[in-house]
Amino acid sequence: MKRDGLMRVFETLLEAYGEQGWWPGSSPLEIIVGAILTQRTTWENASRGIERLADSGLLSIEGLARASEETVAAAVRPSGCFRSKARKLKAFAARVEDRYGGDLDRLLDLPTPALRQELLDIYGIGPETADAVLLYAASRPAFVVDAYARRLLERLGVLRGEERYDEVQQVLTEAFPEDVSLFGEFHALIVRHGKARCRSRPSCGDCPLAAECCYVVREGRRSPWKCASIVDA
Ligand code: SF4
Repeated sequence: MKRDGLMRVFETLLEAYGEQGWWPGSSPLEIIVGAILTQRTTWENASRGIERLADSGLLSIEGLARASEETVAAAVRPSGCFRSKARKLKAFAARVEDRYGGDLDRLLDLPTPALRQELLDIYGIGPETADAVLLYAASRPAFVVDAYARRLLERLGVLRGEERYDEVQQVLTEAFPEDVSLFGEFHALIVRHGKARCRSRPSCGDCPLAAECCYVVREGRRSPWKCASIVDA
């Protein structure tokens, strides 16, 4: 039911912003570290933490596992919540060392349901981070449901706003073919749109989705029109 509407949203965003080429990171470990460091902060702050880990020789499973929590925390300080993020990074590295002999590929080679569960069992990894790892580090078709996605889908009338994480993910998964690059590109486009226009106070003037958005703000007022357009597509 929502399939055509969501595909149209994807195509409209792709035409407006072009391919995003996410996720930044030159290796699966860098992507995973970035997914943890970007929790509750911007990508810019997360990437400063990654750079400092690399400069300190800590951007490896062994490096993270051997270093003290204080040393890791000092390196990732620019990413904010640095003590808890250091604990999370060390918990991840310890899991890879303890169960996979330090071989990250062995973890990432698990079947998708087992890999997702293993990630969720690690301290500091919730569904959003686990799915970012699945999608961008392990190339599995997992939609990342973040705050940008929820906000956009609510404004487009796809969500009511009370759906659980897995319910939102199911809506997205059912709307598209299982295509890792499409899932990754759509998530990246949603983030780009969320930063460029669909912010908490949206800039709707030249929004490419305005024609079918229930929330569109014109002249300082929300318009109550066409709220069913995406849902009924
Ligand atoms: S019209 Fe406004 S609220 Fe709707 S998607 Fe565009 S920026 Fe967001």
